[in-house]
Amino acid sequence: MAWVDGMGDAMADRAGVWGPQRRLRNSVPHLAGESTGSFANRLAHAHGLELGAFLDRVGTGRQPVNPRLPSLAELYVNRAALDNLAVLSGRTPHQLQLALPNLQERFLLSGDDAARWQWPFEAREGHVVRCCDLCAGARGVDEAAWLLWPDQWRVCLRHRRFTDDHRGQGPSVIRLDGLEEVVRAHTERLRLERRFGTAGTELFADGFQVVARWWARMPSMWSWTQRAWQVGLEAQELRTAPLVIYPEAIQLAREMLRYEQRAENTRAVRAAWVEEVQQLMAGWGLEEVDGWSELVQWLDHHSSPAPASSAAGRRRRRELAVGHSQLAGPSGSLRERSCME
Ligand SMILES: [Zn+2]
Repeated sequence: MAWVDGMGDAMADRAGVWGPQRRLRNSVPHLAGESTGSFANRLAHAHGLELGAFLDRVGTGRQPVNPRLPSLAELYVNRAALDNLAVLSGRTPHQLQLALPNLQERFLLSGDDAARWQWPFEAREGHVVRCCDLCAGARGVDEAAWLLWPDQWRVCLRHRRFTDDHRGQGPSVIRLDGLEEVVRAHTERLRLERRFGTAGTELFADGFQVVARWWARMPSMWSWTQRAWQVGLEAQELRTAPLVIYPEAIQLAREMLRYEQRAENTRAVRAAWVEEVQQLMAGWGLEEVDGWSELVQWLDHHSSPAPASSAAGRRRRRELAVGHSQLAGPSGSLRERSCME
């Protein structure tokens, strides 16, 4: 029955405008933790389409006006649009949901009717951070890609790259080859987090937040300036701060750990600790910054007496008496994980 076949073709053509036309011959690899917008952008190019034309096949939504949008914001879809995205990528919806964090159930837009998507400028959780170019390359991805990350920056230890959510002038992937001390600091942070779990994560977050405050007061410290120049970044710029303060942040976290592991925290012990940290600061070149208020604030949050099972705790060396008043989620940013306001 020829007329039925013909009608089928016509319907398929019409469907092509509003729904997926065809799946790809070769599937586009995804990157662990990739943003949906980044994946959709690469999928569009694999189909030989501009992002806007590709999104027409995913569903309806307000068209992005900025071609650099994948780096700026995140794509959210409803269930029908997820189905379309799955067809276009040659995967099942479930496979896509496992691969891309922002396609998980709790992030789907409401409404099961027509396929639709949104592209707000802020990710609902975390930040859109550039993926390390060598990690991407190893997965067969040779164009820019972005990941969702709790903080606005991240370090790839394997390839010694620092990336962030920066969108303006300057390098987007920073090689850490010349900054051995930053690589060492990151390695030590990972060790601290492995060994002490949540307590280790929170201690690093505290050390980082405190040193970040000192950076804000004296961003011109010579070793911070030197580190920035070494990797081609502007000294004293906000995006540079996490990178250049890393060695001092881990040193302070180490001092905080030392304090936490003490059996007693009498007034004298606390005073001696502040004194020691201030000497450390002077050694860094921060003698003009009075760190007293941050250190005392941190001590106030960590002044609860060691738990009753302190002897056992010390033996196991895993139970720290971290006295955070606020509890951060397991995937929070450093700011959320720190007890420093
Ligand atoms: Zn990498």
